[in-house]
Amino acid sequence: MTVRMLYARPLPGVVGETRRITHAFPAPSGDEDPEQVTPLCGAEFAAQDLEPLTAVSGAPCESCIASAARRVREQSRLVAAGPTGDIEARLSRIEEQLNLIAAKVDQLSRVVAALLGW
Ligand SMILES: [Zn+2]
Repeated sequence: MTVRMLYARPLPGVVGETRRITHAFPAPSGDEDPEQVTPLCGAEFAAQDLEPLTAVSGAPCESCIASAARRVREQSRLVAAGPTGDIEARLSRIEEQLNLIAAKVDQLSRVVAALLGW
């Protein structure tokens, strides 16, 4: 069980330059309307107004980050308390989640460092 995220920001001209922040979107499950996409923070965008990104770049949306962290925490808790599977499988899934969190923190640190010019 992994939390796969996609990143995108509004194309130039769709919103003011200061609002062109990077939002996190849950990977589509196939049931959504492909024309209308909703990031974790709940803002709504027409898919055509977004620039897909391969990673967080530029200023990240703080609400999306907070929501992503909350989702990972909840999922880790569910995995840890899961009624099925042996302890080794559950621990390995928890480790997977921790690695994902570490990768996100690393990615965000690099974004912040780049923004601060370090
Ligand atoms: Zn957002």
